[in-house]
Amino acid sequence: MNDPHAFEIGQFEPDLELDELGEMQADGLELEDPGVAHEVFKPRPQPKAKPKPKPAPRPAKPNCTGEFRGALCRFARTGSVPDDVLLWLEKSRTFNAIVKTLDQKYFDPFPPNRLPKNWDALWAPDANGIFTQGPHTGRRMIELTRGLASGFCSPTGWSGTACVRDFIQLKAPPQTAGPGKAASLAEKGGWLERIAHESVHAWRHVLGSGPAGNTAGKRIQSAIDDEIVTRKLEGKIVKEAGRAVASFARYPPTTGSTEQWKVERDFFQEDWLNGLRATHLEYFVLAERLDAAAKSLTGTKRLALEVFVDRIDLGKRPLTTYLTQNPKFVHPDSGIPTTFQDDYSRSYFMRRVVDARWRAVNRSRVRDLHRDKGLEKVRQDHAKAFFSGLAKYTRP
Ligand SMILES: [Zn+2]
Repeated sequence: MNDPHAFEIGQFEPDLELDELGEMQADGLELEDPGVAHEVFKPRPQPKAKPKPKPAPRPAKPNCTGEFRGALCRFARTGSVPDDVLLWLEKSRTFNAIVKTLDQKYFDPFPPNRLPKNWDALWAPDANGIFTQGPHTGRRMIELTRGLASGFCSPTGWSGTACVRDFIQLKAPPQTAGPGKAASLAEKGGWLERIAHESVHAWRHVLGSGPAGNTAGKRIQSAIDDEIVTRKLEGKIVKEAGRAVASFARYPPTTGSTEQWKVERDFFQEDWLNGLRATHLEYFVLAERLDAAAKSLTGTKRLALEVFVDRIDLGKRPLTTYLTQNPKFVHPDSGIPTTFQDDYSRSYFMRRVVDARWRAVNRSRVRDLHRDKGLEKVRQDHAKAFFSGLAKYTRP
């Protein structure tokens, strides 16, 4: 995977601690105000020296000690994740156990002076991204950023170029409270679920229990299984945090289904508008096909093929005509209908067709994602044309 890090280093939010403290003290003083009338007819007691208001307790700060926790805290600071989210996560035993392992298995390369310039020569990461030399032998690098898809180094993974580091991408949940207002429970809960979910994926990966297999079919099945287990643990973390934190207990979890037939049909990226539109099964099958085809190509060659396929105007032919093993398309330069000569372009093109066909679906129908007959036909058409026998949708 190409190294995607392009975000600013060291640009942190200003420290809000003082303002928060001031606000809490103001609240404390308000509580001291008696504001009761029943003492009117009693002799007024001698004014006592008013007890000094107790200093408000310092607002709790998340635990940021550890490689993974450090990276997570930095993401939270720069990504405006409310402190409550990390504090509530810390109430979950399951989450703490997971993070303990992640702290041991990862190395946080930021701030950048932690990383020597020629680190890859010095620390010699293997195909899994695990350092084989130097002070952090046995660890991999982790980076958390805003985005839509996470990725982990693996020799079988669809990667192409050498994998530099694992990365977790998190997209902010909808801001329900409006700009400048404190985050709502829905927003905090959304963050909590996303961080829990991606941390579980990373945990399973570093323990070697993530997607694996010696055939494409097995890898696809294990990627679905991985998603199911991850959702179950995400649900457990949310439950544990809710039991420990009264203000979080009211949050209605939005964890996805853990039934295989539904997971296969769920969209791979939660973001319907911006992500690649493909079901989990479509995404995993086409990733396998791309990966197999990429093995005989250099990175430069792959990029050139992708640029070419991206130039094809899908609208020149009805989308349904592309639903075949070897789709015919209109060449962007000659204008002549033709077919692909290599499987990489073909698989990359199929991904575009899948995305375009889902975009063309009436969005209101997506609400009944699993049971809608029309949506099921779209899925089965894609499976028939593009899966080349690698996988099948499980029946409900
Ligand atoms: Zn997932």
